[in-house]
Amino acid sequence: MIYKRSSALFKEAQKYIPGGVNSPVRAFNAVGGEPIYVKEAKGAYLYDEDGNKLIDYIASWGPMILGHAYQPVVDAVIEKTKKGTSYGIPTEIETQIAKLAVEMVPGIDKIRFVNSGTEACMSAVRLARGFTGKDKIIKFAGCYHGHSDSFLIQAGSGAVTFGAPNSPGVTKGTAKDTLLANYNDLAGVKKLIEANQGEIACIIIEPVPGNMGCIIPKEGFLEGLRELCHQHSILLIFDEVMTGFRLAKGGVQELLDVQADIVTFGKVVGGGLPVGAFAAREEIMNHLAPEGPVYQAGTLSGNPLAMAAGLAMLQSLNENNEVFKSLADKTKYLHEGIAKVLTAHEIPHSINRLGSMVSVHFNEDPVVDFDSAAKANNETFKKYFHGMLKRGVYLPPSAFESYFLNDALSYADLDFTIQALNDLAPELKN
Ligand code: PMP
Repeated sequence: MIYKRSSALFKEAQKYIPGGVNSPVRAFNAVGGEPIYVKEAKGAYLYDEDGNKLIDYIASWGPMILGHAYQPVVDAVIEKTKKGTSYGIPTEIETQIAKLAVEMVPGIDKIRFVNSGTEACMSAVRLARGFTGKDKIIKFAGCYHGHSDSFLIQAGSGAVTFGAPNSPGVTKGTAKDTLLANYNDLAGVKKLIEANQGEIACIIIEPVPGNMGCIIPKEGFLEGLRELCHQHSILLIFDEVMTGFRLAKGGVQELLDVQADIVTFGKVVGGGLPVGAFAAREEIMNHLAPEGPVYQAGTLSGNPLAMAAGLAMLQSLNENNEVFKSLADKTKYLHEGIAKVLTAHEIPHSINRLGSMVSVHFNEDPVVDFDSAAKANNETFKKYFHGMLKRGVYLPPSAFESYFLNDALSYADLDFTIQALNDLAPELKN
């Protein structure tokens, strides 16, 4: 494949945009090399500036669950655009999408729309603090909740009590209120709660993480968190930015039957436009301004184009009972195909999958948390990523990301992908 024009565009971008990109992973910093520049996308395919066609497994990092340029979303946005792009005054469509989301997701009465997953998680934590009157939060190593200061805290060794910031610009004062736990380690969470009795406002978690690759919750882990939160008057926040409206209509809460107190959304809920949302039962949501004292606002929140795209997307998912099963079936097929090839070529691997999320770690041992994910062989991953790209398959350019399948993918696309890996596999051994 030729990447001449992409390469030139990247060089030009680096002159004016830090690192040439508006979000770091896009620069291929985890895999080396230079990013491709997309010209357009349709269905399951990306078309780059050099005329290459690629099968897309990131779906804009999740939102394009029904494929690119999905007609009902495109039509809804075009129609709305003709009527003006933003008013900063209430519109009926905000209530329509809120009502539908409340119907689709278990246990929520009200929802507030924002512009990104980051904003949703940041606001959910402020709401939890305002509601409980407590300051500290627990998050899990390897879980990503956007780039708000209190989430940019890295794991130290197992028993860290106070987090250390992992980005300059996050103050020690902020970091000390974020406590770290390990995913799938309920006993560790219990210890943290006991050491900080009466101080913890909320536990925020990706119930099925996608930001250290895909990780599956061990049986009883999420239920155990639910129980601990009840016992200690801590609010449980499920960050369903990736999983919401993807793993099931009602996200992980529905799929695994565990109820959170606050849920955050992004990605699919905006149909590819910049949307996030957070939701909870009435008692909690009524603490938000203007009804309550916890402040949160946005000039473009509830933007008509974004709401039109989101509503068209949620309506399509709500009306199509088969879509989540169809996605899960395709993902299983891909998983089994990849596993078969890697096993045949004796390449150590560990694959996690749930619904339409899947990831491959080049690691013999099961990957159950951040530490085990970090042990995977990143050199093999780099060869895998670039080898697949060369063969026309666009995977997430980092081992610490889940694949997101879209329903426009055909079984022929999946076979093509598995065949590409079969061709590449001998190169992955050395
Ligand atoms: N939470 C999760 C689970 C995410 O995966 C992401 C983004 N990948 C975010 C929050 C932040 O969302 P955004 O990038 O829209 O700010």
